[in-house]
Amino acid sequence: MNKLLLSESDGHIHSPYCPHGSDDTFEDYINKAIDTRLKEITFTEHLPLPKNFIDPSPQQDSGMEEGLILDYFNELYRLKDKYKNKIKINVGIEVDYIEGYEDEIKEMLNKYGKYIEDSILSVHMLKIKDKYCCMDYSSLEFGKIINSLGSIKDVYNKYYETLKLAINSDLGEYKPKRIGHLNLVRKYNKVFPYDYKGNELLEEVVMLINKNKYEVDFNVSGIRKEDCKEPYIHDHLLDLIKKYNVPIVLGSDSHCSRDIGSTQEYTSIK
Ligand SMILES: [Zn+2]
Ligand SMILES: [Zn+2]
Repeated sequence: MNKLLLSESDGHIHSPYCPHGSDDTFEDYINKAIDTRLKEITFTEHLPLPKNFIDPSPQQDSGMEEGLILDYFNELYRLKDKYKNKIKINVGIEVDYIEGYEDEIKEMLNKYGKYIEDSILSVHMLKIKDKYCCMDYSSLEFGKIINSLGSIKDVYNKYYETLKLAINSDLGEYKPKRIGHLNLVRKYNKVFPYDYKGNELLEEVVMLINKNKYEVDFNVSGIRKEDCKEPYIHDHLLDLIKKYNVPIVLGSDSHCSRDIGSTQEYTSIK
């Protein structure tokens, strides 16, 4: 994305193609963005998961169906043109980094990369003892992950290690340059408190982002989650982001149109 003021852009928006989203149409999102006086937005639907990967989320609805992806791109390019005098729309995707599936993800990106103008690389899945867990599905699931790893700190460390793998991974020329909702591991921090301030792995993650000249999704959806109540980049992590001068792009992570602009009060951090 162009470097805009945080309050003028939203680089993380889902769509009617999201299997766990709402029925709101693309134009519902676009009109809400225009009403909110945004100048630039990116739709970042979840890229289909690799075919040979079994989605661990109970409804198996983490990614878009591959059969729909060309419709998604086509519809977005049509709307991008239709609204070009009112708002800049980028055609994007959110890519799930899944440890062990790098080749499949790269293949998918190579197949559809020519349609992608902007994108996000996110970690939602953790590989634990050869099984995959969806870290942000529910506090109940999160509790199970804590039990299988031993402690809350171990879950944070596993998440940060997976982020390092994601940042270092070879996903080819279409690999996203923006890391999604850094510190998503705090989604249930009100239920499972942990003081991550002294965690050195997190600083290593931010240093790696800086070294690769990546940027971060300043994802404010955590504020809307009752067990989180903070933007994912917050406090100590925000200090690290500033310390290493990592560029920030605001992301509402909207899964319905009313969430766009719900976070304008967090736009003065730069
Ligand atoms: Zn989603
Ligand atoms: Zn995400």
